[in-house]
Amino acid sequence: MTRPRNLQEATRGDDYDPNSMPVAKARELIRGFLHPIEGFETLPVRMSLGRILAEDIVSPFDVPGHDNSAMDGYALRHAGLSPEGETILQRAGESFAGRPFGGVVGPGQCVRIFTGAVMPEGTDTVVMQEQVVADAAGIHVGPGTRAGQNRRRAGDDIKSGARVFAAGQLIRPAELGMLASLGLVEVRVKRRLRVACFSTGDELRAVGAPLGPGEIHDSNRYTLFGMLTRLGCEVLDLGAIADRPELLEHALASASQNADVVITSGGVSVGDADYVKTVLDRLGEVLFWKIAMKPGRPLAYGRVGHAHFFGLPGNPVAVMVSFYEFVREALLLLMGQHPVAALPTFRVPCSTPIKKAPGRTEFQRGILEPAADGSWSVRVTGDQSSGILSSMSLANCFIVLSTEQGNVAPGALVEVKLLEGLI
Ligand code: AMP
Ligand code: MG
Repeated sequence: MTRPRNLQEATRGDDYDPNSMPVAKARELIRGFLHPIEGFETLPVRMSLGRILAEDIVSPFDVPGHDNSAMDGYALRHAGLSPEGETILQRAGESFAGRPFGGVVGPGQCVRIFTGAVMPEGTDTVVMQEQVVADAAGIHVGPGTRAGQNRRRAGDDIKSGARVFAAGQLIRPAELGMLASLGLVEVRVKRRLRVACFSTGDELRAVGAPLGPGEIHDSNRYTLFGMLTRLGCEVLDLGAIADRPELLEHALASASQNADVVITSGGVSVGDADYVKTVLDRLGEVLFWKIAMKPGRPLAYGRVGHAHFFGLPGNPVAVMVSFYEFVREALLLLMGQHPVAALPTFRVPCSTPIKKAPGRTEFQRGILEPAADGSWSVRVTGDQSSGILSSMSLANCFIVLSTEQGNVAPGALVEVKLLEGLI
């Protein structure tokens, strides 16, 4: 798809139907408007965890810097070993990690060596200590040693001059360690993405405030805060806004002046959309879609001032599903992460039956667990209504049922997407 210049142009195609928007099409449309933010900061390596590199990292040297031993044992010259019988070598000294053997190993000699210690000059092979006999006559090495055995080469991990990371790399624990192994004190990372969010609804009360009849505590701002913080965004929480056009307009204007992205929850379903649309049209350019998915049907995307705008549905599960399906990827792209890898999905048997009508993508909350025989299967968490936030807490995965999929019989394979991650 060529990049549309504006939202109007994006909505011109024959297949554009705002009232029945496939998930993939909405994602593609949104992607067309995203450009990574400018701006970076320089941080001590440890502070860069979870951030995105704003520079390429080129290695100034080999890691490791010298050939070294992978085992505790004896370093020797392979050519000096008898191919058939036993060889007896004399111990010429020791090479410890960080304290190399200073001499040269001559014919008939070996050096006691420890893991990580530099291979002494004149040696190319290490025989494990368990495989030799040491006695008064010397070190007895049997036949069968391979040349270069248990030797780690200089530059095995990282070669001098290699581009270790490209700008756009997300810094996780392994990258922190690699930056440290290059001896770097500081790195240049993208500045944090600023995301303003607020909830809309006359029924919403802050935590700590008493609830009147029909009122509920505003939970969406908390799940949003959690999801945004986990992604590494700076969150500007603008509170809960009552359903009044002038309050909404004020909140949107102030959010868009202070943030790269504005996210709201509630107020985009049919009943509210009219006045919200009027306000948004005054401040920017926003499209309202009915996504062919469940939960999370209504979604608004566009621009308010210079900020990107996501209008998420109000139902607590719909907020989370829409965030993970549409907002997460968009924020990572804006943050400058490159590439943004698709989250892995895989197919497992579903132990519970699922009722589903074809025509929309469903994101059921699932519990993926091992059986006694070690094989994994998934089951649904129970009530799948979009107001049951506890289903998200119970779940460790989404069961993603494609548009075409109908009912699922017990034992049938379904696609799952993990909510839990090791790193
Ligand atoms: P709406 O999209 O505004 O029509 O809201 C849909 C449903 O989500 C209603 O039951 C709302 O009460 C509920 N809801 C909306 N916003 C929130 C929120 N911030 N926290 C919890 N529930 C909410
Ligand atoms: Mg509402």
